[in-house]
Amino acid sequence: MFGLYLHIPFCSAICNYCNFNRGLFDADLKRRYVDALVREITACAADQSSIVNHQSSMKADTIYFGGGTPSLLEPEEIARIIRACDEAFDVAADREVTLEANPESVTDARLAGYRAAGVNRLSFGVQSFRDDELRRLSRLHGADRARAAYAEARAAGFENVSLDLMMWLPGQRVDDWLASVDAAAALGPDHLSLYLLEVYPNAPLKDEMARAQWSQAPDDDAAAMYLTAMERLEAAGYEQYEISNVARPGRRSRHNVKYWTDGEWLGFGCGAHSTRSGTRWKNVSATGDYVARIEAGVPTATDLRRLSPDERLGDALFTGLRLTDGVNLDAVRARYGVDVWERYGPMLERFVHADWLRHEPPRLYLTRQGMLLAHEVMAVFV
Ligand code: SF4
Repeated sequence: MFGLYLHIPFCSAICNYCNFNRGLFDADLKRRYVDALVREITACAADQSSIVNHQSSMKADTIYFGGGTPSLLEPEEIARIIRACDEAFDVAADREVTLEANPESVTDARLAGYRAAGVNRLSFGVQSFRDDELRRLSRLHGADRARAAYAEARAAGFENVSLDLMMWLPGQRVDDWLASVDAAAALGPDHLSLYLLEVYPNAPLKDEMARAQWSQAPDDDAAAMYLTAMERLEAAGYEQYEISNVARPGRRSRHNVKYWTDGEWLGFGCGAHSTRSGTRWKNVSATGDYVARIEAGVPTATDLRRLSPDERLGDALFTGLRLTDGVNLDAVRARYGVDVWERYGPMLERFVHADWLRHEPPRLYLTRQGMLLAHEVMAVFV
C-alpha cells in the first residue's frame, strides 16, 4: 500500500534557519491552494494514462500533511482534502493520518476539529523546551505554549502524538540539549524526531550567529548530544528505529517508514515528490506557479524520470540503512537480483572493521556510532 503526502506551504513567519518549501500565509492564496490540491488529487486518480494507474492496487494506508505549517489550514479544509483522498483512492480503514502542527497555531477547538476531520496523529514542531533557544531560532512559540499544545492535543483525543526536537543549536551546550530531551520525555509523547540543525549558507541565522557571536558546539559535543539523547530515550521506554526517530512500541511513523523501506508514495501540492512503479517525479516548487498551472489545467509534474534498476537498488540501500533494522539482503536479492555483499562488500569491509557497520546475514545495518557517520557509508551506494 502506498502513502499520500500533502504539502501545505504556508507559515505565519519564516524561521531564520528554514530551508523548506514554504512562504508567508496569504488567505486568498491558501483558499485557491486548497482548491488546487483537491483538483490535483481528483485528476491524478482519474487519469487512466498516468503512471499512478499502471498498477492495479490503488490502495493507500497513510495520509501525511507536511509543510510549511499544515495547522494553518482550517479543520474543514483538512476534512475536504481527506475526503478527496478517500474518493480518489482506496484508503484503508486503519489509516494513519498525520498533521504537522506548530504549537502557536493550535487551539482546543482547532484540534478537536482536526480530530473530527479524521486526523489521528499529530507531529508538533517543538524544536526546544528552552525559550532562549526558541528565540534564537525565531520560533513564534515558547516552551509553555509547546507544553499547553501537547496537553490540548491529548484532551482533544489524539492518542498518537510526535514531537520534533533540534540539537546542535547556536550557543547550545550538551546539558541544554539534554534538558529539552528530558522535558520532552517527561510529557510522554508516542514518538520523537531528533534532528541536527544544519545552518545553510544563505540562512539569515548564519548572519545572526556571526553578529551575536553564537557558535555551534564542537563536533564531539554534537556526537555526545546524539548518543546521550538516544540512551536517555531508550531508558525512558522509547525504541530507536531510524537515525533520527524513536517511538514507543507500535508507534513508528507508518508513513515515513515507506520512505526508508523502498515503498511508494504520491505527493500532492507544490514541490511534492512522488515515487511509483519505479518512476519518480516532483511538482513545481513555487506555490503561485503550482496554483496557476492547476487552474489552467497544465501539468504540475517536472523531472519525471524512470529509475534504472541500479538507481532503485542504490536508493533502497541508501535509505534502508537509515533504519536500525537495516537492510535485509535476502529481500534485496529477491527484488533486484543482486548479491549486495558480493558487489559492495570490498568497499564496505573497512566500515565493518571500524564497527560502524555490521554484516550479519541477511541483515546489514549501521551501529549507533555508525549512524553518526552514515553519509560516508551510504556514499558507497550512490
Ligand atoms: S514553521 Fe517550519 S516550515 Fe515554517 S518557516 Fe519555520 S521551520 Fe520553516
